[in-house]
Amino acid sequence: MVTDRDGTELARRAAGVDQQSRDGLVQLDEREWRYDRVAQQVGELMEEALGEAQLGRDQLAALGIGSAGPFDGGGIIDSTNIKPTAVPAGHRVRIPLVDPLSKAFGVPTVLLNDCSAGVLGDVVFGVGKGRDKSGLDIVYITLSTGFGGGAYSRGHLLSGKDGNAAEVGHFWVVENGLKCGCGSYGCAEAYGSGSGVAKNARMQLLNENFDSQMVDLARKAAEEDGREREHLTKFCLLEYVDASVVFEADRLGDALATRVVEEAIHCVGLACSQIANAYDPEIISIGGSLGLANAERIIPGIAEEMQQHLNVAPPEILPTSLGHDVVLWGAIAAAMEAAGSAS
Ligand SMILES: [Zn+2]
Repeated sequence: MVTDRDGTELARRAAGVDQQSRDGLVQLDEREWRYDRVAQQVGELMEEALGEAQLGRDQLAALGIGSAGPFDGGGIIDSTNIKPTAVPAGHRVRIPLVDPLSKAFGVPTVLLNDCSAGVLGDVVFGVGKGRDKSGLDIVYITLSTGFGGGAYSRGHLLSGKDGNAAEVGHFWVVENGLKCGCGSYGCAEAYGSGSGVAKNARMQLLNENFDSQMVDLARKAAEEDGREREHLTKFCLLEYVDASVVFEADRLGDALATRVVEEAIHCVGLACSQIANAYDPEIISIGGSLGLANAERIIPGIAEEMQQHLNVAPPEILPTSLGHDVVLWGAIAAAMEAAGSAS
């Protein structure tokens, strides 16, 4: 997205990492590989957006990037989203961003993890807009494929030594619980994220002999995906049981789906209690595809769960007012800050 200095949107472009960028993987040495084309592709999209906004490169003041980490040396290292098949397991894969983009455009370039960008977006343009930042404490959480968080306190983004502070999805909430993507057991993410909800539902379907409307909804999704009805065994259908199927079945009154949704709410509520006890925010804002699509269903339950565990005044829980653009706006806010400090 390109904005002016007041944060008015001028143009935007969207694209996934294309095949050419995926092919642009180079081997550096025996242990390390690098994607060189990804930053170039981002740069090309930037050029297009600048063109649409009728701006020249010389009018660009700064660049902000909000991305899923983990980060190392101004780029992403071992991304969970871009996994090359050509690279043997155990090898490191880098995606450099800050260096190539700041060189290409000649402006300060800031890289933030997506949840830090999320909280900054909310502070500057969303639920904190117009508020005195020196007295504002907000934690942003995203409930999407994963469960992440970003914390802001009185003018400062909480960074941590490696930029990985507020990994609230990995707060431990269930003893001997489900396995989390991080390798641990019983994290809030294992129950409250999109992938956690889906995994929990699949397990419960197996335990309960598929006695659920989720099976019918999954069959419908599979058929819409072009799968032939006669080849769809119940086990095949499990791959179509995702968080949207679970929440839809819950809305239809399906007992098993409701159990999974309530477990998710319970675990996110426990995590939010720990967030409140740790950071004492006045607002916890919720984003992410699962969080935004089901805000009305989950927020009252999270607030109720929290009441039982708080040692601080309860924060207000709100869906982010910036919807799916919250991370983009955070990147813009970071760029504006960088432009201010560079001028
Ligand atoms: Zn975890």
